[in-house]
Amino acid sequence: MAWFSKQKKVKAKESTPDAPPPPPAKGEGVWHKCSGCENVVARAELEREWNVCGSCGQHEALPIRRRFELVLDPGSFEELDVDLTPQDPLGFVDSKKYRERLRGTYKSSGLRDAFISGVGAIAGQQVSIGSFAFEFMGGSMGSVVGEKVARVFDRAYERRLPAIVFSSSGGARMQEGIFSLMQMAKTSAALHRFRAVRKPYVSVMLHPTTGGVAASFAWLGDVIIAEPKALIGFAGPRVIEQTIREKLPPGFQRSEFLLEHGMIDAIVHRHDMRDRLGQLLTLLG
Ligand SMILES: [Zn+2]
Repeated sequence: MAWFSKQKKVKAKESTPDAPPPPPAKGEGVWHKCSGCENVVARAELEREWNVCGSCGQHEALPIRRRFELVLDPGSFEELDVDLTPQDPLGFVDSKKYRERLRGTYKSSGLRDAFISGVGAIAGQQVSIGSFAFEFMGGSMGSVVGEKVARVFDRAYERRLPAIVFSSSGGARMQEGIFSLMQMAKTSAALHRFRAVRKPYVSVMLHPTTGGVAASFAWLGDVIIAEPKALIGFAGPRVIEQTIREKLPPGFQRSEFLLEHGMIDAIVHRHDMRDRLGQLLTLLG
């Protein structure tokens, strides 16, 4: 039963998001136009380069499964918490029902929510790892995402492992209201508990990392890494400009600007990510 109820004119048949997982979305075009330099390349070629443009170095979005392939030793990933599925505690309806939105995204992406986590190895070193899937409702953090992030830290705590989280998120999931906001405190508390084992937590911020994710565990890393030109911040630049009625400096909230201002520790090219993470784990693990 929801906390509040709204009279619905038509009682639509409710469906559960527990249908068998669909195949991943197919049929993307053969060609890709770079969002940085507008160069057109064959998609297969782009994928070989882990979605980094060969002409200008633009880091295009990388599907979540490829992210694990990029950084983990082949065959080392064991996905965990796969059965966690989002609920609809508020019975939320905006332009469509939250349940329908979930079902649609589930069908198009093959993902149950915006986060995948488990354990794997980088350069032979075991890690508790998780990554956001921006393709699932803008990587928004609802109860399931928050729980899975917290479990990354819980597992790292229990097994005495380093933790790595790749963040890419628009922030809170408004359809879950206060339950979504609570995840900021919950994930930060789990991270705090993990600190007791004195293992490193490496936070990797991808494009874009904003809102409640940036404002909680993503910016609490022992080492904070970003991909080039990633948009990282709490509120978006347009909102800030409208609020303070001032023009923001060029490159504001991009990785390069944040590195210059001491807000992150390093910018790492996607092709170097595996080596750099391995190096960090060796030094700090
Ligand atoms: Zn390009």
